[in-house]
Amino acid sequence: MKEEQLQKLKNKLSELAYLNSANSLLHWDQEVHMPDSAVEARSKASSNLSKLIHEKFTSEEFEQLVKEANKSMEEDKLTDEEEAIVREVCREFKREKKLSSKFVEELTEVTSQAQEAWKQAKQEQDFSVFQPHLEKIIELKRKEAELVGYDDSPYDALLDTYEPYMKTSELESVFSELKDFLVPFLEQIQQSEAEIEDGLLDQEFPIEKQKEFSTEVIQEMGFDLDKGVVEESVHPFTLSLHPSDVRFTSKFQRDDLQMSILSTIHEAGHALYEQGLPAENFGTPLAEAASVGIHESQSRIWELMVGSSSEFWQNFYPKLQEKFSGQLEDYTYQDFYKAINKVEPGLIRVKADEVTYNLHIILRFELEKALIEEEIEVDQLPELWNQKIKDYLGIEVPSVSAGVLQDIHWSLGNIGYFPTYALGTVYAAQFYKTAQDEIENLDKKITNGNFKEFRGWLRENIHIHGKYYKPKQLTKQASGEELNCQHFISYLKYKYSKLYDLD
Ligand code: MG
Repeated sequence: MKEEQLQKLKNKLSELAYLNSANSLLHWDQEVHMPDSAVEARSKASSNLSKLIHEKFTSEEFEQLVKEANKSMEEDKLTDEEEAIVREVCREFKREKKLSSKFVEELTEVTSQAQEAWKQAKQEQDFSVFQPHLEKIIELKRKEAELVGYDDSPYDALLDTYEPYMKTSELESVFSELKDFLVPFLEQIQQSEAEIEDGLLDQEFPIEKQKEFSTEVIQEMGFDLDKGVVEESVHPFTLSLHPSDVRFTSKFQRDDLQMSILSTIHEAGHALYEQGLPAENFGTPLAEAASVGIHESQSRIWELMVGSSSEFWQNFYPKLQEKFSGQLEDYTYQDFYKAINKVEPGLIRVKADEVTYNLHIILRFELEKALIEEEIEVDQLPELWNQKIKDYLGIEVPSVSAGVLQDIHWSLGNIGYFPTYALGTVYAAQFYKTAQDEIENLDKKITNGNFKEFRGWLRENIHIHGKYYKPKQLTKQASGEELNCQHFISYLKYKYSKLYDLD
């Protein structure tokens, strides 16, 4: 009896998952191939499909299955795997039920107008164009928090969408420790006598060669091109239709070799996670990423700990030299390694180095949390933003476009998302430290271009579990510790003390 019911639930979940894949494919095509003329038609195709999925997910039939499954769980009749499935499905179902379709429609309407306003405001360098739209979004997001419910801060309810089970207070304690380290550490780096010469990156590198090189790198990393596709788009992203069909995009710029290579490695890290999820559980939470922050850890661990390391470039630099014959022959791999790791506080988050990057995130988190908790108002944002940039990075913001208006996230209504970028790095450093402890001579293996064991470690400790464990348990299980920023701090100290001759 029980098994039959659970099987019915799984069948429904699988049906929903395939519909979601179809919707993802529409989105992929929109970003990669679609003619501009199709924007409206595509948005209708996609919203109709989303509506259908939502209706099926919140139907009485589905609700009945969820209730019965929940009952079985409470009566302790399920295996651990089944429990994880039911736990996560109930969670999502409850959240979805609490938000009326009227609310969801209003949010969609408001954010779609806000995106246009944001573009215009950014172009005209005029915050007041965006301000009323953001005010409306904040109001709706506060309402969302009330509808969903929370214990301590309304921000908890929003953060939970991206980083399940994490509390704002936990995030705050990790971030404040990180900030207390980063701000003086950055000053120390800036006061160092050591100068890093990065002129070698100031060249134009043929796009075709960049692509060839990047393809070699992602194949070495272990991205399976028989079960995936790589193309180009304006903003690189990764999307999975199924573990047998994982796609990501890169962006290649003639004058930005570093960005082209490292963002490809970043997305390939996301893609490896998706390829490593257990296909046999497709449709259930067991084949879904644990959280957005954990997902980001898989991209950052490859991009930073591996792809920006001296070991990695010791192996790949001669190949890079060969690819761009003549352009790099006057420079050694150490020159290249130093150049790509140069620390320089800047205004733009996506161009930030790994020392300053998380300060960009922390300031966004502090501001959006204060907005949701009604401690500040939207009209104060530009000034508060500029002050924080000055306090944390020591620089002046010349315009709102390079300041408070630089990111698209708030216009999309994605409040609670920014922290996952910093969490990704913190998780990544913690996982990397454990991998170093558990894999014999990992550094040497990376110097030899041998990623097999490292990839296997990630797969075994992170990927194959999907959502079986809550992010907290997964972290503990994989690294033996609760989430903490000590490993990231040690990683930065070790790496940058050498680069900048610090004591
Ligand atoms: Mg990412």
